[in-house]
Amino acid sequence: MKITFGFLLALISISSIVQSQPVPRPVKQVLINNVQIFNGKDEKLMTGNVLIVNNLISKISPAPIPTNKSAETKIIDGKGKFLMPGLIDNHMHMILAASTLSQMQQGEVGAAFIRAGVEAGNTLYRGFTSVRDLGGPIFGMKQTIDAGVIPGPRIWPSGPMISQTSGHGDFRGINQRPVSLGGSLDHSENIDACIIADGKDAMLVAVRETLKRGASQIKLTAGGGVSSSFDPLDVSQYTEEEIHAAVEAAADWGTYVTVHAFTSRAVNKAIAAGVQCIEHGQLLDEATVKLMGEKGIWLSIQALDTAGRADFSADQKQKKKDVANGADAVIKFAKKYKVKMAWGTDVFFNPPINKDQNTYIAKMGNWFTPYEVLKLITSDNAQLLALSGNRSPYREGKLGVIEEGAYADMILVDGNPLNDINLMVDYDKNFVLIMKDGIVYKNTIK
Ligand SMILES: [Zn+2]
Repeated sequence: MKITFGFLLALISISSIVQSQPVPRPVKQVLINNVQIFNGKDEKLMTGNVLIVNNLISKISPAPIPTNKSAETKIIDGKGKFLMPGLIDNHMHMILAASTLSQMQQGEVGAAFIRAGVEAGNTLYRGFTSVRDLGGPIFGMKQTIDAGVIPGPRIWPSGPMISQTSGHGDFRGINQRPVSLGGSLDHSENIDACIIADGKDAMLVAVRETLKRGASQIKLTAGGGVSSSFDPLDVSQYTEEEIHAAVEAAADWGTYVTVHAFTSRAVNKAIAAGVQCIEHGQLLDEATVKLMGEKGIWLSIQALDTAGRADFSADQKQKKKDVANGADAVIKFAKKYKVKMAWGTDVFFNPPINKDQNTYIAKMGNWFTPYEVLKLITSDNAQLLALSGNRSPYREGKLGVIEEGAYADMILVDGNPLNDINLMVDYDKNFVLIMKDGIVYKNTIK
């Protein structure tokens, strides 16, 4: 092969792209001195120092922590700034969020995955060290992040969302027949964005197959959706028997089923079938929220924008508005009945708003004090992650807290978000240090 100048230039530019966001080299010990520590649980801060050994928090002390002064200890002066656990987003679609619907359906699959890989790094640099992925072909991304190939958060993968024919996870066009009626698999099924399964037997296969591939929890669509084309919001999806089959198969693997559902009809059926977590729930009535509180069912809520995506139909835009406006009443009910709450963003097929992930944190300030918001997005969210039990991919240390033995996933904030939750929004400026698994990804402390 003749090596031309142009070829060399292309090589150089490719390597500079690849090196633009490297995974930093791990250091054996990191000592962060002089920080105000929010431990993820208590409103009261502690002034002190934190020693990280490998990937875990080894010691927290108000007194100076001696080190062996070896070259392998990196010492960071925290300058009295605010140290908190890394952020957790409990409802993401990391592959689907990096592309538009048409890019995902009609574009090159490889391009969609590369965009998603870049966005994984962006997510970590927004301070998110852990995410629960609730539908999409995510297993490969998780593997490459864990292997240190690209920067990104820890991922609790659901894998393909499981949907009935005509359900929220059925992306087929109106003229495509389902496989069970002689049709062929849709592109969305071929790339594992979803599995369409009808009936108890098909459900068992779908759940078992998804668990085999590494799902930490199972995501079903149990009611109408905003972005889907054919299912009105008021419909419920799957029979109780089908949902219960999924719950049993997940329980056999020590994990749980969470469902996409907005309405009381859909949620009551899911609860009767043994589901432990509800995604969304913005259209629930008070009695159903009360039942969730009594039964200890998790509500994974989002503060959505009322505006829909540019490619939404008038009908989808109206659905989006109805759902976004429903959050106010439901969050108030959930607080009243002490429902276990988790938080996530649920952004997908709308790449320009991915950078607003932190803005949705500040929006929770409409219903919660800054302290409650910070606890929600750290230790509360981590409790929901822990529901995956032995199927959780990361079981060496605790998450969402700063305590000895916990994973060293932390961010250092310039300013005190307990006084001003809006400090979460400008992550680029205000998050001066980002650490995941003991590795310093960002350090701009001045
Ligand atoms: Zn979702």
